[in-house]
Amino acid sequence: MKIGCHVSIRNGYLGAAQAARTVGAGAFQYFPKNPRSLTVKSFDIRDASACRQYCAEHGLVSVAHAPYPTNLALDDGELYQKTVASVQNDLDIADACGSLGVVVHFGKYKGAADDPLYGYRQMIRMLNDILVDWNGEALLLLENNAGQGVRMGTTLEELIQIRSLTQKAEKIGFCLDTCHLFASGVWNGENWADVAARARELEYFPHLKVIHLNDSAYPSASCRDRHAAVGCGHIGKNGLWELLATPECSGLPLILETPAPPSGSHREEIRYVLAHIT
Ligand SMILES: [Zn+2]
Repeated sequence: MKIGCHVSIRNGYLGAAQAARTVGAGAFQYFPKNPRSLTVKSFDIRDASACRQYCAEHGLVSVAHAPYPTNLALDDGELYQKTVASVQNDLDIADACGSLGVVVHFGKYKGAADDPLYGYRQMIRMLNDILVDWNGEALLLLENNAGQGVRMGTTLEELIQIRSLTQKAEKIGFCLDTCHLFASGVWNGENWADVAARARELEYFPHLKVIHLNDSAYPSASCRDRHAAVGCGHIGKNGLWELLATPECSGLPLILETPAPPSGSHREEIRYVLAHIT
């Protein structure tokens, strides 16, 4: 299994890949642009190609992560259009860098209490708009939510349904965040066999492309999204090892989104996980 962490693009995309390799990572995640805005970035194609080539040479796997303000369940309007253009731009960058795809959180919608499906309809619409002309190889990777603020997007059923209702389902895969799955209450640390059985029934695993390997700072069903270092949270190392031992998870890239230790490097945590899974 390839494991790594989130790295900065301070020194470009190639620089991010090199930084990942420096800490002993076989996989990494990066923000394709400023993580706090939805701008369309005119990126350096030579830098992106150099990243792609470097990753191919060294067997590195990468994924991009959409900026924080990206919300797939919005009302029509200026922000809706801006978000569509931003995610299309993320896909372009991810493709140029040779990445598996762009991780985007499942949408969140607060309004329309009289019509609980409205948020889901808007999300399907936006996914269709984003992917209508997308012929690249990078996938849009939907990530399960922790349920903070809004419960939307916490269950495997929602992920499967949304994907199957979009026009270009073949361009959509999944990213499983272990902290979110636990915090949402879907997984309580003791029912993994049931969760995995349900995932098989729903045919979730064939579309699972990456795992965000995070422990949780809060208990199951707290709906609080706070990551902890592997083995230092409420899931605990045994829960995480059990999940990783699932045959369908074998070979998937694992990305740590855990707090950086005082050294600033995830080197030790990567080594720790590798020692337990290989
Ligand atoms: Zn995550």
